[in-house]
Amino acid sequence: MIRLVCSKLLLFVLVGSALAPHAWADGETPPGRDPKQPVDEPYTEKIHKYTTEPVFTSPLVDYLPASNNVPTPQAVLGDIAGAPGILPYAEDVYRYMRLLEKATPRVKVYSIGKTEEGREMIAVAVSSEENLKNLEENRARLSKLADPRTIKLDDAEADKLVAEAVPIYYITGTIHSPETGAPTALMELAYRLAVDESPYIKEIRDGTITLITPVVEVDGRDRMVDVYKWHLAHPKQFYPWLVYWGKYVAHDNNRDAMGVTLKLTENVLNTYVNWKAQVLHDLHESVPYLYDNTIGDEPYNAWIDPILADEWQVIGWNNVSAMTKFGMPGVFAHGDFDTWSPGYLMFIAALHNGISRLYETFGNGGADTEERTLEPEEYARTWYRQNPPLPKVLWSQRDNNNYEETGLLTSLHFFTENKQRFLKNFYLKAKRSTLKPSEEGPAAYVLPGDDPRPGLQAEVLHALQRQAVEISRSRSAFTVTLPAKKAKEPAKGKDKKQEKSEPPARTTREFPAGSYIIRMDQPYSRIADALLDHQYWSPDDPQKTPYDDTGWTFGELFHVQVTRVTDRKVLEVAMDRATQIHAPGGVKGEGTLFAINNNAEPALATLRYKLKDAAIEAAEESFESAGKKFNRGSFLVRNLSRADLDRAAAELGVQVTALSAPPAVKTHPVRAARIAFVHTWLSTQAEGWWRMALDKLAIPYDYKSTQAIAKTTDLRSKYDIILFPPVGYNAGVNAVVNGIPTAWGNPLPWKNTPETPNLVGKNDATDDLRPGLGWEGVAHLQEFVARGGVLLTATDTSSLALSLGFADGISTQNASKMKIVGSVVGTRLVDEASPIAYGYDEKVAAYCDNGPIFSLSSIAGQRGRRRLGAQMHARPTGRGSLDDPDFAVGRQEVAAPEEPRSEVWESPPVLAEQQRNGFRVIPPSLRPRVIFRYADAKDLLVSGLVEGGDEIAEHPAVVDAPSGRGHVVLFSINPVYRGETWGTYAMVLNTILNFDNLNAGRKDAVQ
Ligand SMILES: [Zn+2]
Repeated sequence: MIRLVCSKLLLFVLVGSALAPHAWADGETPPGRDPKQPVDEPYTEKIHKYTTEPVFTSPLVDYLPASNNVPTPQAVLGDIAGAPGILPYAEDVYRYMRLLEKATPRVKVYSIGKTEEGREMIAVAVSSEENLKNLEENRARLSKLADPRTIKLDDAEADKLVAEAVPIYYITGTIHSPETGAPTALMELAYRLAVDESPYIKEIRDGTITLITPVVEVDGRDRMVDVYKWHLAHPKQFYPWLVYWGKYVAHDNNRDAMGVTLKLTENVLNTYVNWKAQVLHDLHESVPYLYDNTIGDEPYNAWIDPILADEWQVIGWNNVSAMTKFGMPGVFAHGDFDTWSPGYLMFIAALHNGISRLYETFGNGGADTEERTLEPEEYARTWYRQNPPLPKVLWSQRDNNNYEETGLLTSLHFFTENKQRFLKNFYLKAKRSTLKPSEEGPAAYVLPGDDPRPGLQAEVLHALQRQAVEISRSRSAFTVTLPAKKAKEPAKGKDKKQEKSEPPARTTREFPAGSYIIRMDQPYSRIADALLDHQYWSPDDPQKTPYDDTGWTFGELFHVQVTRVTDRKVLEVAMDRATQIHAPGGVKGEGTLFAINNNAEPALATLRYKLKDAAIEAAEESFESAGKKFNRGSFLVRNLSRADLDRAAAELGVQVTALSAPPAVKTHPVRAARIAFVHTWLSTQAEGWWRMALDKLAIPYDYKSTQAIAKTTDLRSKYDIILFPPVGYNAGVNAVVNGIPTAWGNPLPWKNTPETPNLVGKNDATDDLRPGLGWEGVAHLQEFVARGGVLLTATDTSSLALSLGFADGISTQNASKMKIVGSVVGTRLVDEASPIAYGYDEKVAAYCDNGPIFSLSSIAGQRGRRRLGAQMHARPTGRGSLDDPDFAVGRQEVAAPEEPRSEVWESPPVLAEQQRNGFRVIPPSLRPRVIFRYADAKDLLVSGLVEGGDEIAEHPAVVDAPSGRGHVVLFSINPVYRGETWGTYAMVLNTILNFDNLNAGRKDAVQ
């Protein structure tokens, strides 16, 4: 019998157990405590005290088993897991996990790496003593299942391994720092799994190794705990929002599983892959009360194994079913999360032959118990949510922990009960990945050995290596057959006879020796396929609100050549595994002048900053020398020893040619510009990706908030260029200039104090987050440009700069039906002589997320507009046909002058009528210069979703607007994003290096 300490508790247990006998009379192990094992009564009493409604718990977590030697979370927390007012720092969580490790052989703690700010990340293994003793033998078995090539794809051998292996279920907590509940839930979960002797838990412990990373975003966790502590110390005041989570990004830390650019992604990925885990289950908090988004909504990612889609359904519905039986409201598995993008942390498992899972539970963003009122759509009953959440409820951190633990325990139990099936699937998925060339294709992706951008090529390959993808390199040249492109069906109503032609022939392509081959007959072929292939999201897709980016094709975004090869002969090419991939670099040839070809590789900018004392110039025209062709913008380096240059160039993968004589070509200096980098206090994420890119390239900058800009006079004497990267959330003039209202409320400090020792880290601080750029800051920026500085903006800060009148002759227009949701789009080079375009070809793919639609005009203050006539493909109503014009009755016909024509991206020519007293006509030398434009509508889509693309097609994508003695360079695309857009980095870097010569090659209109 259960010993009860108070009557409230009695009622509680009866409510819970009333359901149990009926629900579990099916031969399955019933959940619930072992009556023979004593309960930790004070702890259990507090569980009940902090749980706000009896239905918010389950027989799995409404008690805590007692132990003589193993400490409960109370040992570190001073109260139970989920207690109000208690939010542990990561190091407290780790301290507890290490206490467990000391107290029981059922727990082991592993350090899995450090964060950007040097904090530790851990993984905690919980299982039976025997399983943990035999970890290495077990790992050997799992490794064979993970790589079926090691057992020659022998199913009988796999079955033997499946029977003997113990599977690994990997759980990760609090990647999103304001989602605070997971660490305490996972502390208590580890205790339960180690201590509880109930048959239900014992089965999990004996059958599965549970691996736990209790805090994924460790830097952000410590900041969040600081903010919460500040709130507890100032209970009557508003508290600061979490403006920084990790060093670089906030919520996007869960969008990094493609590029693997953040330490947290790398550490979790390595742990997942090295342990050969079967599941990666990531914990989030935003939806009442438990949304298991494993099933989610369509479209599903097109590269996953269909076996995984089935596993999502099976596990997800079991989860709902188990918790429904407990009577817990608000548990569901189907909802508005689509499973298209592989950027989520959990998706590491999906594309490495495991099972990805994610919970959204309900958190209060801290440990306060609060009354919460839901939206009607949140509490409505739907077909997939028969027992919906309650409209209004008192909600505690303990309630949240109850849901998290109950969900995880039922999942772990179901997974253990079916472990042979899931282990077999794990093997089958790996086997099918390995058989990809013959079963489904492609056979390989090939990156040619003569790509003009070997540095960028190496970046793509490094990203694949971080994903544990094997890369090979061909020993000699080889040829593959490429599939014939499908003949286009003649359009309806067209003359079919005329358009009918011979079916297109297959083509072949030769690749030189040293080409990189990514074979698809390897266990992790699916992640390589997903990253290198093209995406197509139909505008007619029933899913109208993509959850995240719709396109990401790495070859396109890195501006390197990637060929999808279906010809299986490619696998027979003589090749070696390439482990150390580094672009070749160094000095070749004889001479004291050194030339570096410019192919828009970011390493050139790194080199410029690294070689502080070298005199470097850019050639304004292409030239030939030493038997080589050098593009516009190529570097000419003087005043540097060959040895120094050779060392730097070898390290950076930059190829240098020594010349015996200077080429006869116009040049200008390439200087290491002094950079100010502006951020707001509204959000630091979009700019965080820019910071990360500059840090990776070792390009120094001063990081300044809008408030600091407001306080800094004479910016021009301190800086050459100011980068104002996107703010995010379409922050407009009001938000950026005025900030958050200060007329009421209290200051919201972001600085280190005894209560908040971790807030500032390596970023920035302020006494009050609320004030914005202010009109003084606007004036300082304007003065900076007027005095010859360059202001570079992108997406929403471009719109901001235009709204503030920083540039004449550019307007933005609102899209009415355009939908470009995180897609890869085509751009076209318009002005190849501009330094911003140095090293680029005519076609460049770029990342666009409904970028602002720019139009140009040569008339100050006038919006770019189209005139009736040829440009509109229209004529007024009247007699005749489209090309046989109207006439006026009763007089002779008078011919109209030819209407001037211009392209969509150009300023319409200035008309004679506009020249009359034309004080608004911008002098030709001061007009905006279009460097890149969006491709024509039919070529706009490269990857992802483009709907209504004609609204932005052909409009400017990158514009250089002279302003005062300086320039404003405006991007409609986002050239620096999530570590995935290396191909467009050089547009920004070119602007930086040529800040004082942006007018090079400029051709002005005659009038
Ligand atoms: Zn989240």
